Amino acid sequence: MKQRTLKNTIEMESIGLHTGEKMQVTIHPAYPDTGICFRRSDTESEYTRVSPYTVTSTQLATTIQCGNQTISTIEHLMAALYGLGVDNAKIDVRGPEVPVFDGSATAFVNAILDAGIVEQAKARKFIKFKKRIRLEKDGKWIEIIPSRFFKVTFDIEFENESIGQQKGYFNVTPESFSKELAPARTFGFKNEVEQLWQMGLAKGGGLDTAVVIDGKDVLNPEGLRFNDEFVRHKMLDLVGDISLLGYPIFGHIRAYKSGHNLNNLFARTLIESANFYSIIELPDIDPALINNLELKPQGMS
Ligand SMILES: [Zn+2]
Repeated sequence: MKQRTLKNTIEMESIGLHTGEKMQVTIHPAYPDTGICFRRSDTESEYTRVSPYTVTSTQLATTIQCGNQTISTIEHLMAALYGLGVDNAKIDVRGPEVPVFDGSATAFVNAILDAGIVEQAKARKFIKFKKRIRLEKDGKWIEIIPSRFFKVTFDIEFENESIGQQKGYFNVTPESFSKELAPARTFGFKNEVEQLWQMGLAKGGGLDTAVVIDGKDVLNPEGLRFNDEFVRHKMLDLVGDISLLGYPIFGHIRAYKSGHNLNNLFARTLIESANFYSIIELPDIDPALINNLELKPQGMS
């Protein structure tokens, strides 16, 4: 299999979740082995290749350091690139955060599909986990076990009755990612959003950019996109956060109540567990993998 990049440059604009101001993002094709790189185009900063170690904050969103600036809310765009199998791209963000759109990854998925994806001259490298790696913190946990595919299982338990207990399981392929995970929106509680507004945060947070919950009610007039939209969004975030490893993954990740902070600690732990994985290349035609790509989405809930 070959590495892949975009066929055409993408330009997009929407408000930022934190500032509430218009933010522009431009995604350029990039040479093989570039990885995913970001820069702040409103400053003179150089491109920084993302890795778990570029993450400086996981408060409300995943934020990376780019030169002496930061870029926030990268996770939904990262998830879309990973989910669709884009290995190389250079991303210009004009301002302190990636625009939020509707709080899901659908706008990014549609833009990437419109721009097109092309194969490049170099082989794609995968990270294949051979043994279980587990991390626990504050009653939450996350682990990876060996698998021939990339699978994610996620459990959440909220006292709030709109959310409650939800369990998700997907074999993550470009098809299942686009249809089952990408449309799931970020969510927040009305009282917490109001608190954040008072603190001058989450100025772009609202019914157009998130699912907002008040007790047993979902305040968005259009309702939910899936009955289990909440756990699906947690899985979308996990795919985005774990994609900072920089390789497509062979392994089954299982998570219980994880979030951006534990996801990032886990990504660092994975990289540092060199005896537990190998970096592999696949032959150009691998029937098993092609079958995998054509698998139907496997949502259980
Ligand atoms: Zn999210």
